Amino acid sequence: MKPFDLETINAFRERLVQVESTIAIIPHINADGDAIGSVLGLAGILKNAGKKVVVLSPNHYPNFYKWISGSEQILVYTASKKKVEQALAETGMLICMDFNQPSRAGEMKDLVSQFSGPGIMIDHHPFPQQFTELMISHPESSSTAELMFHVVKAMGYQKYIDKSVAEAIYCGIMTDTGSFDYNISDPQTFQTVSELLTYGIDPEAIHGKVFDNYSADRMRLLGYCLSECMEVYPEYHTAMMYLSREVQQKYNFLSGDNEGFVNYPLSIRGIHFSALFTEKEDHVKVSFRSKGEFPVNEFAFKNFNGGGHRNASGGEIYAPFNEVLERFRQLLPEYRPILKKTKI
Ligand code: 5GP
Ligand code: MN
Repeated sequence: MKPFDLETINAFRERLVQVESTIAIIPHINADGDAIGSVLGLAGILKNAGKKVVVLSPNHYPNFYKWISGSEQILVYTASKKKVEQALAETGMLICMDFNQPSRAGEMKDLVSQFSGPGIMIDHHPFPQQFTELMISHPESSSTAELMFHVVKAMGYQKYIDKSVAEAIYCGIMTDTGSFDYNISDPQTFQTVSELLTYGIDPEAIHGKVFDNYSADRMRLLGYCLSECMEVYPEYHTAMMYLSREVQQKYNFLSGDNEGFVNYPLSIRGIHFSALFTEKEDHVKVSFRSKGEFPVNEFAFKNFNGGGHRNASGGEIYAPFNEVLERFRQLLPEYRPILKKTKI
């Protein structure tokens, strides 16, 4: 990991020492394991340091992260707008984690960008847009959770890490690396994990709580999608999958049920670009994954109003479902040269 800017680390510590009112920590919309692990891990650390902390999530997050300590205290904006607005009014410091532009706070984006007190963004996505007073942006980091662990150590707050915090951080690293499959080019990630293990956490149990915690309906939905809603384009090394509202209803779809779907087509021989389209009430959520050099963040930014990492990106688009699917199919010939020469 690249060295920290010590001025920022010192300024962060100073702000933490100075703040007397509540610190609000915010993950991105549709929070994943890294976002939830990061915010709850840091919340635990700051609480152990004697701070008042509140975690405010822009919208609901999957049930399979609700075992993480502190999760029961998360306030969800889409469910309790008044409470979240009240909490923000009483907030003395804002910490945004695992996102680097206000729009990723979903419906909370104006509240986040209008916050006038001290604030910091801790994130590992490329192309940061600074919207807080301080910023720790390390795109080379496996996950925001791992980055936060090192920030905390650099501030001298390691003594506030306990087993629950270590579990939250481990969950963030595990989920953002696909269970240590990608984003692990830095050997330090394994040293981090090895340190986390000294807190007595149980990696097998954590893996089970996240990945072996689905409903039978979700499993059947996956089967249906793989068999009926997947198109494979070997000439473009690409596969796409789509999940209409009709199909979601048929399988009693719950938030998070499509987690991981986008990775399946990558296990088809010769496929190194995968896309998943999920129809929402008034927009389409897109997810892209790639193996090798094909930059799905640039693809998402240019064509689908999104962004993310080189090999994992997403976006939201306000257009009819079938139009979005067709737009994607139409784009493939343009990307054929780069998709063909991509080395894995
Ligand atoms: P997912 O496909 O799991 O929703 O997202 C994969 C990655 O892309 C994550 O790192 C996430 O932060 C990023 N991402 C997902 N949706 C969006 C979006 O609408 N805008 C941007 N800028 N990034 C996104
Ligand atoms: Mn992340």
